[in-house]
Amino acid sequence: MYTTKKIIKTVKTRDYLSDYVNINSNLDYCIQCPNYNRNWACPVYDFNVEEIFKKYRNLDIYAVKIDFDSKNVGDKLEGEAKAILRKSLDKEKRLLHNELLSKESSRHNSKALIPNQCKLCKGCSRITGGDCVYPNKSRYSFEGFGGDLEKTASGIFNIPMKWVIANKIPEYTIIFGGLLY
Ligand code: SF4
Repeated sequence: MYTTKKIIKTVKTRDYLSDYVNINSNLDYCIQCPNYNRNWACPVYDFNVEEIFKKYRNLDIYAVKIDFDSKNVGDKLEGEAKAILRKSLDKEKRLLHNELLSKESSRHNSKALIPNQCKLCKGCSRITGGDCVYPNKSRYSFEGFGGDLEKTASGIFNIPMKWVIANKIPEYTIIFGGLLY
């Protein structure tokens, strides 16, 4: 159905912050997302993201490239094709979330950043105004911290980012997570 390839690159946090992070322009995308202010991993945050970055010297960026089966590429995102895309992304995000938690627990003074929103609960308690249900497992979103994903993919991983365009399965897509330390 699909194959994955994980690549990890280490960058200086101050370099990533100056060259790849644009909090305001990412926020424009976040505002259009249904998870904006409705998932504890996502903006709006009650802290300054730059101040968090500045507490850490390094950032390991995890890129998981998901290559879809050529027979599915270009399929309209409906029925089986939609299920393939959703299942693959959900599974790989969950795996990366868990891996980053494990890396965080084995490295002193580190902080994991997960791909996209937190999906540990069926519906995030932020929607109903409650506190996070699993604060020991949930983490903030890599994208929510303002990293430009297209620039990160091409500038750091030398892979052009591919998105779902015209509601069709792309050749591949990439999910990102990180570990600050
Ligand atoms: S653990 Fe549950 S309540 Fe907490 S951010 Fe994740 S989905 Fe929301």
